[in-house]
Amino acid sequence: MRLGDIELHSILENYFHLDGGAMFGVIPKVIWSKLYPSDDNNLIRLDLNPLLIKTGQDIIVVDTGFGDILNERQRKINALAGETRWDQELARLNFKPEDITAVVLTHAHADHASGALKANPDGRPGLRFPNAKIYVQQGEWNDAMNPNERTAATYLVDNLRVLDDSGKMELLEGDGPLFSGVSVKVMGGHTPYSQAVIVDGGGQRVIYPADIMPSSAHIKIPYVAAVDLDPLTTMKRKRWLHEQMLKDGWILAFDHDINYKFARFREGEKGKVEPVKVE
Ligand SMILES: [Zn+2]
Repeated sequence: MRLGDIELHSILENYFHLDGGAMFGVIPKVIWSKLYPSDDNNLIRLDLNPLLIKTGQDIIVVDTGFGDILNERQRKINALAGETRWDQELARLNFKPEDITAVVLTHAHADHASGALKANPDGRPGLRFPNAKIYVQQGEWNDAMNPNERTAATYLVDNLRVLDDSGKMELLEGDGPLFSGVSVKVMGGHTPYSQAVIVDGGGQRVIYPADIMPSSAHIKIPYVAAVDLDPLTTMKRKRWLHEQMLKDGWILAFDHDINYKFARFREGEKGKVEPVKVE
């Protein structure tokens, strides 16, 4: 996709499976199962869709998927499907890992941050994008490096420490522009400091809200994942997203949808907000 001078690509890094109940929170299965298929173990497929943004000066990756550094146990828990597709996806778009100048993490959960690392031939993790600085909210990084009993399964501290020690981390304090046409906005909800990435170009706006609205099956306000730490904030942010998307024709880039990668919203029957695919 193009926004003026900015190029945008949805990456298919890999896909994994998660308990459907964890993904739909208080919504009963009889309802969410009409929107999203699940298997005999109640697992649903989620794609891992980082965003690649090319501006005049920078080549930015937003979120990084699971990558290839999970151990067997972690792969099994996350029902990870195959191998990371980072190399194929970059090659498809004619980029090399060295070309990436910045990585922006919406938050540091394993399915968003682990792919910033790459298993070296000796098995030890190194940086997948060796020339990129890594941007994340300071508050998110503090939480990630000091997980509690609830968050420890998804903040993989041993891996995050490799990033922390790399000298590449740039810790952000709140909202603001990061690069030409690219800014961040703290959303909270999913984690207290999870951030959205906003891209402006050619009079259009794309927002990548990450797990605030992970798929087109999560457009309805109460469809909030059980893993969100502050579901009421997530709902508030979703309401704001509905308003902006409908009023100003924003495009939303989903981070886990198996079908819609970019969509606009429209108001359908009885005020129901529906996705309209954008290619
Ligand atoms: Zn997450």
